[in-house]
Amino acid sequence: MSDQAVKRVIIIGAGQAGGEAALRLRHSGFGGDITLVGEEPAAPYQRPPLSKKYLSGELGMDRLLLRPAGVYADENIAFLAPLRAVWIDRANRRVRLEGGRELGYDALVLATGARARKLTLVGADLAGAHLLRTAGDVDAIRPRFVSGARLVVIGAGYIGLEVAAVARQTGLDVTVVEAAPRPLARVTSPEVAGFFLDEHAGKGVRFALGAQPAIIKGKEHVTGVGLADGSEIPADLVIAGIGVNPETTLAQHCALNVENGIVTDAQCRTSDPSIFAIGDCAARPMAHYRNRVARLESVHNAVEGAKIVAAVLTEQSHSVEAPWFWSDQYDLKLQIAGLFQSYTKIVLRGSMKERSFAAFYYNGERLIAVDAVNRPGEYLGAKMLIQTGRTLAPEVIADASRPMKELVAQAQ
Ligand SMILES: Cc1cc2nc3c(=O)[nH]c(=O)nc-3n(C[C@H](O)[C@H](O)[C@H](O)COP(=O)(O)OP(=O)(O)OC[C@H]3O[C@@H](n4cnc5c(N)ncnc54)[C@H](O)[C@@H]3O)c2cc1C
Repeated sequence: MSDQAVKRVIIIGAGQAGGEAALRLRHSGFGGDITLVGEEPAAPYQRPPLSKKYLSGELGMDRLLLRPAGVYADENIAFLAPLRAVWIDRANRRVRLEGGRELGYDALVLATGARARKLTLVGADLAGAHLLRTAGDVDAIRPRFVSGARLVVIGAGYIGLEVAAVARQTGLDVTVVEAAPRPLARVTSPEVAGFFLDEHAGKGVRFALGAQPAIIKGKEHVTGVGLADGSEIPADLVIAGIGVNPETTLAQHCALNVENGIVTDAQCRTSDPSIFAIGDCAARPMAHYRNRVARLESVHNAVEGAKIVAAVLTEQSHSVEAPWFWSDQYDLKLQIAGLFQSYTKIVLRGSMKERSFAAFYYNGERLIAVDAVNRPGEYLGAKMLIQTGRTLAPEVIADASRPMKELVAQAQ
C-alpha cells in the first residue's frame, strides 16, 4: 500500500489510542476522511482517573474527556458512537458496523483496547460485584462505595491497590485478596511490592495473599467472598482487578497475526499492510529493548501508537519515547520508566522509610527501568538515560549525596 494513496482512514475504538490517532492524524496535515467508531457512549476519555479521582468523586466525566466532545466535528472527523464495528472485509477494504452499514477504507486503525478479565466464580453476577474498566463501571460502583461499607478487592495489581487507597480514604473497610504471594507480582520487584504492602497495611488495608477466591456469596446481593481454604470475608461490595485481555476479536476474524495482542511491526502495521493496530490491543517491537515484541497497557503506549500511525500515514518521521507509566496511591506518586522484566540487579537510592526513593533495575551493567516513589528527579533522569541508551554504574547511582541531574550529565 502506498500511504500517498490513503484518502479514507477508519479508526475502530474511540479510547485513548483511537481518539489521539484521529486528532494527531488531522493535526499532522492529513486532509482526507477520518472516521472514528466507538462503542462507548462518551467521546474518547482517559481511564487512569477511573481508579483514582473519578472513583473518589473529585473529577467528573467532563474532566476525563481527552478533548471537549465538539472537537471531532470541528476537526472534520466523523465520530460514530455508540456504535460497534462488527466485521472487516480485508479483500474489499470495508468495515461493517452494527446495524449493517458498511464503510470503505484505504487505511484501517484497530484501537480496540482491552477488556477487563471477568471472575469465573459462582456469584460473580450478583449485585455488588464489579469490574473496573469503563466510566460506566465506576458509575455502577459509586452508590455502594461509601464510608463504612465492606469492600473486597480481588487482585493486587496497580488498579486493585489504587482502588484500595481511594476506598480507605473514603472510609470503607478494605480487604485485598491476591492469588500470588505478594502484591504487584506481575509489575514490579519484591522490594517495591513490599513497600506498597506495608503502606497499605499501615492505612488499615487487610491482605489475603496466596489466597484463591472460590465463590462470591449472597442471594441477590453480595454478602461475602469465600476462599478456597474455606474461610469467608464479609463484603457489601466486590471489585475485581485481575488483569485484561486484549480485544482482538475483529482482528482474529479477519485472520491477522494475533499472539497476546495484534502483532505489528515498529510502524504499527499488522500482517495486512493497510491495517494498523495501536494501544492495549497491539504488540509491537520495543525500540529501547532490542526490538522485543511487547504488549503494553499504558497511556504512553496508546499515545505513542497514535503518533506513529499519524507520522506513517502523513509520511513524516517520528522518534519513539521509552515506555513510562504512573500510579497514585495515598500521597505516593509512583513513576515508572522502562521495562523492568529482564532485570538481574536492583539498586535503591533514597529511603523507603522516608517514603521517597527510586529502585533502579539493571540487566548486567545496563539500566533498563526505574520505579520512583515521590522522586521525580530520579524518574526523569533514568527515563532520559534509557531513552538515549546510556547507563550509570550501580554504585554511582546509589550515591544519593550527588544530585541525579549531575549524574545524568556524566553518564556514558
Ligand atoms: C482503572 C484504570 C486505571 C489505569 N491507570 C493507568 C495509569 O495510572 N497510567 C497509565 O499509563 N495507564 C493506566 N491505565 C491504562 C490505560 O488507561 C490504557 O492503557 C489505555 O486506556 C489504553 O488505551 P486504548 O485506546 O488502547 O484502549 P481503551 O482505552 O480501552 O479504548 C478502546 C476502546 O475501543 C472500544 N472498542 C472495542 N472494540 C470495539 C469495536 N468492535 N467497535 C467499536 N469500539 C470498540 C472500547 O469499548 C473502548 O472504548 C489504566 C486503566 C484502567 C482501566
